[in-house]
Amino acid sequence: MKRLYQALTMLTAAAALAALALSFTLGSGPRAQSAVSQALIFTALAGFVALALLRGPRERAEAVGVSRRAGKSQPPLPKCDFTRVAANDEALQSLKELRDYLRHPEKYRRYGARMPAGVLLYGPPGTGKTLMAKALAGEAGVPFFALSGSDFVEKYVGVGASRVRELFKKARKAGKCVIFIDEIDALGKRRDDMSSDERDQTLNALLSEMSGFYTGDGVIVIAATNRIDALDPALLRPGRFDRQIEVGLPGRAQRLSILKLHSRNKPLEAGVDLEELAAQTVSMSGASLENLLNEAALAAAVRDAGAIGRSDLQAAFYKTVAGADRPITATDGERRIIATHEAGHALASRLLMPENRLARVSILPSGRGAAGYNLSIPAERVMVDKNQLENQICVLLAGRAAEQITFGDGALTAGASSDLARAAELASLMVNELGMAGEPAVSLKALARSCGGVSGAAEACKALLAQQYARVAGLLGEQAEALRALAGALTQAESLEGGRAVEIIDAHLSNERQKPA
Ligand code: ADP
Ligand code: ZN
Repeated sequence: MKRLYQALTMLTAAAALAALALSFTLGSGPRAQSAVSQALIFTALAGFVALALLRGPRERAEAVGVSRRAGKSQPPLPKCDFTRVAANDEALQSLKELRDYLRHPEKYRRYGARMPAGVLLYGPPGTGKTLMAKALAGEAGVPFFALSGSDFVEKYVGVGASRVRELFKKARKAGKCVIFIDEIDALGKRRDDMSSDERDQTLNALLSEMSGFYTGDGVIVIAATNRIDALDPALLRPGRFDRQIEVGLPGRAQRLSILKLHSRNKPLEAGVDLEELAAQTVSMSGASLENLLNEAALAAAVRDAGAIGRSDLQAAFYKTVAGADRPITATDGERRIIATHEAGHALASRLLMPENRLARVSILPSGRGAAGYNLSIPAERVMVDKNQLENQICVLLAGRAAEQITFGDGALTAGASSDLARAAELASLMVNELGMAGEPAVSLKALARSCGGVSGAAEACKALLAQQYARVAGLLGEQAEALRALAGALTQAESLEGGRAVEIIDAHLSNERQKPA
């Protein structure tokens, strides 16, 4: 468990840098700001109403302990097989063994071999866990029963447990089959609206049903979660989900194979370079890649272009990451502020993290409610160090620093709020988890856990942020010429390809020696 925790912490730190480094300016200027909060409120309300509508009929079904959802079986899916899955080699290897078992359970019985009672696939959403479970059923030609852990989670004690039994009863009737339980963590962790009795009963029902298959009837239970850390340890014990397979985000080569797979049925223009796209799409899941290709195909179809071109793919890439461009509505004054803010991010990124590739700087409002954004593609790495984390904090704070340097204290905008929040998250990670502020051996969180009563985290984060803010503000001050030039170009063009932005920056750097490689 400890190792898992460490791995998770490392992952968080790595993810902080590996995630496509997007710096948004959330609605700079009061007008855009209110549009953003309106949009948020609207979404929240709509979500609530939809939830209430869904709840209504289900609660009636609960009263008699019958669920129309539990045990909903789908016919075998002959079309879904392993050829529809790219990457994920390790998971596929395991699933191929299981396919053999489903095809010939008697062979395994003869050898006295016991297949894992359950297989747990864990990893970020959209990495193909559901797809692989379906493909396994398809390959083996057996029915596929899919359910989500949240379907079991009910207010009334015993309902979840009876749903579990109902599901397994149906599965047993079907003979060999694959049972897929998505979001298994919903069963394994405490919910506010559910008594722990209910949770325990549901979980126990699942565990006892699973041990019923011990002799091997050809039933495979596959569960998926993106929160293995939140899972009840009871689920992971031997005889339960004792095979655990990580399904991580695809690396560059894997992204290429996913892109190739999903573009098989799509006409691509001759010059299209999927390798370039694979290199760009750092930290995207298989689902996002599939979505990106689909967006590009839609755009090409709308133009009736005959084939999907590079520009379709690039536009789809930005749309997938940041939301579609929308026409600019900011006043001239606001444009200058947004452009300066974004130029600050871009300049700091060029100076402090030249290994990252600047892809686009834009002051066009994005579909996600940003007033402008910077997109840079991080170099792929497995480890991050203190310098890199500090530099990332600087890049995040650079938008605000550029505003302050250029327009003074009075002009600070609300747009930097998410930058500040993310910088604070990184600072907290460094101070609380990684021992990277102050004493190198002190992780405040670990210390508090072992010794209790350690304080000072907030002060340490604050000092770290202030220090990094001063550093980046100093840097931008030295390079005020480049900042002005880039902001000016951005105000004019509204959106710049990263390569062009870098040219402008490099042409205006005050000190030749500082020019990054
Ligand atoms: P998860 O269950 O991990 O959240 P899904 O299996 O629902 O992810 O993936 C959604 C879609 O994304 C799939 O139907 C498929 O189109 C695409 N996809 C994800 N991962 C892969 C992959 N490794 N190979 C091919 N397609 C993938
Ligand atoms: Zn910003």
